[in-house]
Amino acid sequence: MRRTGPAVLGLTVAASLAGGGWWAAEGAGWEARTVTDLWSPRAYVEVQGEAVAVPRPEPADGRQLPAVPVTTTGSYAFLHTDDAGAPVGYDPCRPVPYVTNTAGQPAELPGVVDEAARIVSEASGVLLVHAGETDEAPTMDRPLIQPDRYGEDWAPVLVAWSDEAGFRELEGQVAGIGGSAAVPGPTGEGRWLAAGRVVLDGPDLAAMLDRPDGAEQVRAIVVHELAHVLGLDHVDDTGELMHPLTRERSDLGPGDRQGLALLGQVTCRP
Ligand SMILES: [Zn+2]
Repeated sequence: MRRTGPAVLGLTVAASLAGGGWWAAEGAGWEARTVTDLWSPRAYVEVQGEAVAVPRPEPADGRQLPAVPVTTTGSYAFLHTDDAGAPVGYDPCRPVPYVTNTAGQPAELPGVVDEAARIVSEASGVLLVHAGETDEAPTMDRPLIQPDRYGEDWAPVLVAWSDEAGFRELEGQVAGIGGSAAVPGPTGEGRWLAAGRVVLDGPDLAAMLDRPDGAEQVRAIVVHELAHVLGLDHVDDTGELMHPLTRERSDLGPGDRQGLALLGQVTCRP
């Protein structure tokens, strides 16, 4: 989640830190559903009340992109970790497809999603690939596998636009939300991320374009949400893009880069 508001930053910081708010819920809710309800040693997951076998990935011949070496140090946190505290990320040996639902996307913002996807791909070594348009509407309860729409594999990352009337999680100054589900591997061993989603507030982002640095700030919000999709959590450090509120930064900070590089170094699915 990222907030847009310039005027009441102090208030929103206080409210977020005290009350948790959406930034705490966006990753945690999705993880709870998969870890506590969907995990099973037989590598089945529950999708809309039905047991569905964990998809087996296509054979892979190594990484899609070279691993990104860690060359910076800063604040970072992971949304999902294993018992040893290691990050849970997307499988770097397969492309991570994302589909876009452009309904509600402001006409002034062409290409911002693809540009942001390139930025996080480069920083993480996890290859995000645009897999076309979809008419899937964003929901908090998104089914992780949707055979009729996307086949038997995990659903691709959905990037969709809405507004606070259509998606109540975007109420107030929230400009976007993002995250992924942590799911078991095909054999039941290990966990990886899947079926990510980003919902962007079209009117909020269009309004930002009136600011002198508006285009950069909009791109920063999309990068921030896609970094959540890849597994980064918020940090309190205003020098990082994963701070939930700051406008001090419009590019990836040292800790953001460190965390994304580490997320891209997770093992591949068998
Ligand atoms: Zn956020």
